[in-house]
Amino acid sequence: MIDKKTKIVATLGPASSDKETIKAMILEGLNVCRINFSHGSHEVHAQTFENIRAVDKELGTFTAILADLQGPKLRVGEIPGGVMDLETNSEIVFTTKKSDKEDGKLYITYPEFAKDVKVGERILLDDGKLILETISTNGKNEVRAKVLHGGPLSSNKGVNLPNTKISLPCLTPKDLEDLDLALKYDVDWLGLSFVRNARDIIELKHLIKIKEKHARIVAKIEKPEAIDDIADIIKETDALMVARGDLGVEIPLQNVPLVQKMLITKSIKHAKPVIVATQMMESMIESFTPTRAEVNDVANAVLDGADAVMLSAETSVGKHPVEVIRVMAKIVKEVETAEEIYHHEEPPAESKEDRYVTDSICFNATRLSNRVKARAIITMTFSGYTGFKISSQRPKADIFVFTGNRSILSQMSLVWGVKSFYYDKMVSTDHTIADIKYILKKQKELNEGDMVIHLASIPISEAGMTNMLKLGKV
Ligand code: PEP
Repeated sequence: MIDKKTKIVATLGPASSDKETIKAMILEGLNVCRINFSHGSHEVHAQTFENIRAVDKELGTFTAILADLQGPKLRVGEIPGGVMDLETNSEIVFTTKKSDKEDGKLYITYPEFAKDVKVGERILLDDGKLILETISTNGKNEVRAKVLHGGPLSSNKGVNLPNTKISLPCLTPKDLEDLDLALKYDVDWLGLSFVRNARDIIELKHLIKIKEKHARIVAKIEKPEAIDDIADIIKETDALMVARGDLGVEIPLQNVPLVQKMLITKSIKHAKPVIVATQMMESMIESFTPTRAEVNDVANAVLDGADAVMLSAETSVGKHPVEVIRVMAKIVKEVETAEEIYHHEEPPAESKEDRYVTDSICFNATRLSNRVKARAIITMTFSGYTGFKISSQRPKADIFVFTGNRSILSQMSLVWGVKSFYYDKMVSTDHTIADIKYILKKQKELNEGDMVIHLASIPISEAGMTNMLKLGKV
């Protein structure tokens, strides 16, 4: 298995959801399998979930599953004849009544469109290739717009309304059905698309809780409103995705690089994993090698400090799903030789915070690991908290998380630098430390003489918060 800190997320699809391909991709460095609910049937997704878990069992790995909910993605409907030409400077009428599409009107799958959109607001079609401006709305079912930049438009293409306050809920009826399936298969992470504010995340958390599941949430940042509410979103969410596909339509393209850097910096500060997504190795959908610009894009995401880099069509429908992971892992590994990606020091928590003791232990563990050039920081955890916290300070030492909580084993596969192990013995702290060292030596993760830092909670039987740090040699 490839030894790297930055994780790789790959979207599975027709090109990659069979067991052989999943296995080959994991062996080349894949850590998180993403299932995109915008495509495919429940039957196919259920089989893919089973395939991932079966391969994990065979390899003894803990691959995370990220189920990505489509959210309120707006689309135009079927166009009679399949395609229509929108001429620059012409006018077009959108309708929310399906039956009106025969009169040359463009049907849009968003019932509240005429109520929500305001005169002067932009309407972007097909990933922003066509640009329109609202001239008038009847407030009920029709909107007239001027085509500022035209071209051919085919059925079911996406619609983005960057300036409009969209009144649709974050979870559509389709999302709720998809959520049921994802939770039935105990996915580790749920992607929430088109997040607008922290309330969207609270709503999904509530649904997960009433189903008594443990999935954590990845807030996909792809709307200007989400950027405005980013402080509260980061507090509520468990992880973030820089969803550059829709983000690059909703905000000017040239703003995406700095937004990516801002989101990564803020996520690390709050110990929330962050994924950089979309078009990272786009040319490898067809080609056997990436472009120089793509190599630089992946490298820069690693240098920015992303926890994970993501592949979409490259692995779901591309021609070289295994090769693209291999090439991406090689780029990641090489860039991780750069010193500047390590040792982010956040000031220790305020003494009034609940987690003050644990936070202080994590802070000093990473600092100490740097000083003594420790080979590993080994932590016992039930909630995963210390794993997230230590990772966010980006130590050069390996981060080994030992846990008796099966639901966090694969969740941690998204987190920078973390490798997790199942461990449920509770004899004594002394015994556990000796036992863990023995396991890691046997698995060739540690060698005789390595300096290691152990974190645990004493007394161990109370499974409380981390309050102990031990430095020692193997
Ligand atoms: C994106 O827009 O960048 C993204 C990852 O979302 P999706 O693939 O669901 O469009």
